[in-house]
Amino acid sequence: MKISFIIPRWPKNSFWDVIAFKFPLLSSSLLAGLTPSHYQFRIIDESLAEIDFDQEVDLVAITAITPLAPRGYEIADEFRRRGKKVVVGGIHASWLPEEAKAHSDSVAIGEADEVWSEILEDAEKGTMKPFYRQKERTDLSRLPIPRRDLFPTRGYLFHNLVQTTRGCPYDCEFCSVTALHGRSYRMRPVSEVEKEIQSLERSKAYIFFVDDNLVGNLSHAKELLTMLSHYRLRWVSQGPIHIAEDKEMVSLMAKAGCHGLFIGFESLREENLTSWESASTELKPTRMGSKDSTTPASESMVPLSLAMTTMIPRCLMIFWSLPNETEWKGRSFLFSPLSLGLGSING
Ligand code: SF4
Repeated sequence: MKISFIIPRWPKNSFWDVIAFKFPLLSSSLLAGLTPSHYQFRIIDESLAEIDFDQEVDLVAITAITPLAPRGYEIADEFRRRGKKVVVGGIHASWLPEEAKAHSDSVAIGEADEVWSEILEDAEKGTMKPFYRQKERTDLSRLPIPRRDLFPTRGYLFHNLVQTTRGCPYDCEFCSVTALHGRSYRMRPVSEVEKEIQSLERSKAYIFFVDDNLVGNLSHAKELLTMLSHYRLRWVSQGPIHIAEDKEMVSLMAKAGCHGLFIGFESLREENLTSWESASTELKPTRMGSKDSTTPASESMVPLSLAMTTMIPRCLMIFWSLPNETEWKGRSFLFSPLSLGLGSING
């Protein structure tokens, strides 16, 4: 059986369409890593290569985040018009499976790692079910090394997307991570991550740890960072701002090769942060310290972030997400010393 994993291109003329560098999606290379070698398979990233709709293929597997979903549906429709079987997955299809089903033979809802072999067997027998959903969340100790060798060799800013955890211990009201992964924070054994690090081509050793929160479990994070510090790596990842208070952690991150951290500040307005805290989260990722902390986030974020940038070079990112986020503090922030240490600011 011939399988094509397809990543749809970004909408024409959108920011991610026009910029020179692209990002792969980890999920396609993970599923390829879980595909038995007696199948023939390849990954096509439409941002970097044209799709041949007349290709010989038995199963087309399309994964899409929300901005890519409309194009994903067009691709699915084209292949189905030619009589090819199509399975659609990814976060958008997981939230709107009926919508995705209108364009596909099957929809993989949620994580697909442990149901992928069943989808393949059913596709081979011609008995694909309309929907697949894993009974349990993926056991990360069984993840394969992703087949990043199937990605195009040129065109990506980060070739090496590596995942060490899934989920987040927090439950920010505006975030889809916990809704998708549940309140459990799952961690890969550090020895498994180390095997993957050792498999990377050194020439492409800049890594993006795509974890939503790399430091959601302090003991796992410290073990991971200690392991990483034995390699000469440079990497970026994502994490919450309150980690800036943990000097040992920030120092470990720097020693382990952290070159930048994407941090969602969400707001510099105390009242906005307080309104979000009505959610059930026990620790507030947007607030410094413990849940009993009385330090207003709006006062502590900027100096703590500035302290952090003295150890970790750049690439912090700020989001203002509420309609009432006007230029309050924003203008002075943009001209503050902190902003000089930022690689990227999103409003
Ligand atoms: S800390 Fe970040 S990843 Fe975790 S729930 Fe909040 S916004 Fe989402």
